[in-house]
Amino acid sequence: MLRHIQRWCVQALRAGLRTLQSTEEHGGSLKVGYTFKNRVVVDEHCVVEDSGDVIEKLKKGFITFKQGDYNQKRELYARLAEGQRPKIMMITCADSRVCPTKLHGLEAGEAFIVRNVANMVPPCEGSGEHHGTKAAVQFAVTILEVEYIVVMGHSSCGGVMALMSQKSESIDFVGNWVRIGLPAKEKTLLVMQGKSLLDQCRYCEKEVVNVSLANLLTPQKFLASRLFPAHFAGCFFSSSMRFNP
Ligand SMILES: [Zn+2]
Repeated sequence: MLRHIQRWCVQALRAGLRTLQSTEEHGGSLKVGYTFKNRVVVDEHCVVEDSGDVIEKLKKGFITFKQGDYNQKRELYARLAEGQRPKIMMITCADSRVCPTKLHGLEAGEAFIVRNVANMVPPCEGSGEHHGTKAAVQFAVTILEVEYIVVMGHSSCGGVMALMSQKSESIDFVGNWVRIGLPAKEKTLLVMQGKSLLDQCRYCEKEVVNVSLANLLTPQKFLASRLFPAHFAGCFFSSSMRFNP
C-alpha cells in the first residue's frame, strides 16, 4: 500500500500540477466522477498552474513565513525539527475566527493544540466513538507530558448553536458530536428558561467549557501510569475582544 502511495505521489509530481483525473492510476479508490483539482505541494519552488486565488494566497503566505519568521528564528526551528516539548495543551473550537496561537501570542512548539467543533472533550467512558480528541489528550499527557491543559470557548459558536437548537433525534455527524455537551444544554435550559435562543447560546458557550473540563477530570484509564497534570484552566474568547478567565 505504501509503495502504491509513493508511486502515485511520484506520478502526481511528474504530472506537474495540472488537474488530475480520478482514475485507477491515481488513487484507485475514488469512484468515477470525482476529480482531483489543484493538488499542490506548497513550496516556494513549485510551479502552480491554474491554482486559483486560494492556493496563491497559501503559497505567498508560506514564502512570507520562510523569508521572515523562519529566517529570524532559525535556531528555534532547527530545535523543533528534532522534536517537540510543549508545556501547554489547548483545546479550542475549529471556528476560523478563533486562532489560539494568534490570540495568545504562542510560538511554534509552545502549545499542542486540538481544534474541534465547540471545543468539546468527550467523557472517558463510552463505546469508543470520538477517539480523535481523546487520543490527543492521551498523547499530550503520556508522551508529551504537558503541564497545563486549557479549554477555550468562544462567542457565536456554531457548534453550541447546533447543540441548543437540535432535536434529540438528530443523528448527523455534527448532531452526534455536540451531544457531548448535553449536560451544558440541560443546565442552560434550567438557568436561562424563557430567554431567547441567542441568550441561551451565550450562556451555554461557557457551560460547554465547564463540561469539557469536567470530562478531563474524570478518571482516565490510560493515564494510570502517570500523574495527571496539575493545572487545568478554562477561558472564553469573546468576539468583542474581552478575555474572561
Ligand atoms: Zn465554535
